[in-house]
Amino acid sequence: MIKFLDLEKINNRFRSEIDSRIGKILDKGWYLQGDENETFSSNFANYCGVKHCIGVANGLDALNLIIKAFGFGAGDEIIVPANTYIASILAISQNGCTPILVEPDIGTYNINPNLIEEKITDKTKAIMVVHLYGQAVQMEKIWQLAKKYNLKVIEDSAQAHGAFYQQKRVGNLSDASAFSFYPGKNLGCMGDGGCITTNDDELAAKVKAIANYGSDRKYHHIYKGVNSRLDEIQAAVLDVKLKFLDEDNQRRREISKYYRENIKNPKIILPKTYDEKSHVWHVFVVRTTERDRFQKYLQDNDIQTIIHYPTPPHKQGAYSEWNNLSYPITEEIHNTIISIPISPVMTDSEVKKVVEVINGYI
Ligand SMILES: *Cc1c(COP(=O)(O)O)cnc(C)c1O
Repeated sequence: MIKFLDLEKINNRFRSEIDSRIGKILDKGWYLQGDENETFSSNFANYCGVKHCIGVANGLDALNLIIKAFGFGAGDEIIVPANTYIASILAISQNGCTPILVEPDIGTYNINPNLIEEKITDKTKAIMVVHLYGQAVQMEKIWQLAKKYNLKVIEDSAQAHGAFYQQKRVGNLSDASAFSFYPGKNLGCMGDGGCITTNDDELAAKVKAIANYGSDRKYHHIYKGVNSRLDEIQAAVLDVKLKFLDEDNQRRREISKYYRENIKNPKIILPKTYDEKSHVWHVFVVRTTERDRFQKYLQDNDIQTIIHYPTPPHKQGAYSEWNNLSYPITEEIHNTIISIPISPVMTDSEVKKVVEVINGYI
């Protein structure tokens, strides 16, 4: 069986270093807000090219905290792609703001920058972009709109650690960016984790305080904060894995390139990228009008697949107020996509087998 993602194999490459770092934490007996968090945050900030990185409990919290720290709430609108993982949208509604959905581009699956301006109103406060499936959004137009209408730009970078737009990495393309370190992400820990990156000193201090009970120093509470922290064990694991992130992403690019050059089947539409460095291939998403049959065929040939995602946010029960709305491109994507295996630990023979099996599909 070719697994969709072999997490055991991915993490066991670093087994001895992880064991030793966790051992040191046990020796010290210090589990939250210590040296490991400091070290990783500083290394990840450098990696992204930003001034600040604040570790938090997970990716959803990271998005939530950015919106809170900007002070957005009831009556404010935030623009977000209709085609995304539901977390991006939940973070907006959880703060009492209204998510304004924008259709994606069917080629890149990312928000279509040309459809944003018509959605901007007096209430719009921010544009949240999502670098979906690992590909950086083309930001130029979004920066222009933000400037013209005085809006904040927020990145959901949960799927795109290390991807570039022009000369800068994601996490450094906006006012503030959220990352998730959920185990299956390109940079994943061994539980839940996330962070916020920003070049804004004031925002960084505010996010840090809100995430720690609204406290800027011990027992001194200036905000009605929350408890959302990256623990020492997760920070240590991430710090070990960060050193290999570029190499891992490069291997993903290699596999993706091989797929794009060698999968030749008229029934399968391959994903597009506008620049090799802009994509870190968190998932490799193809489209077909015969998804169920294709998925069963791959399963019968020992290839595991996943659908990211079968139901778009506006068709979910959680957003029943939107269920009758129509976002045809988003729906077309959700009805036809399927993700085939891609990961830094796939072997050449596994990659070849995936291609052969797909090319043999009739
Ligand atoms: C994973 C993910 C999140 C949420 O991250 P968690 O750490 O699971 O809370 C948010 N947005 C996107 C696009 C994601 O893929």
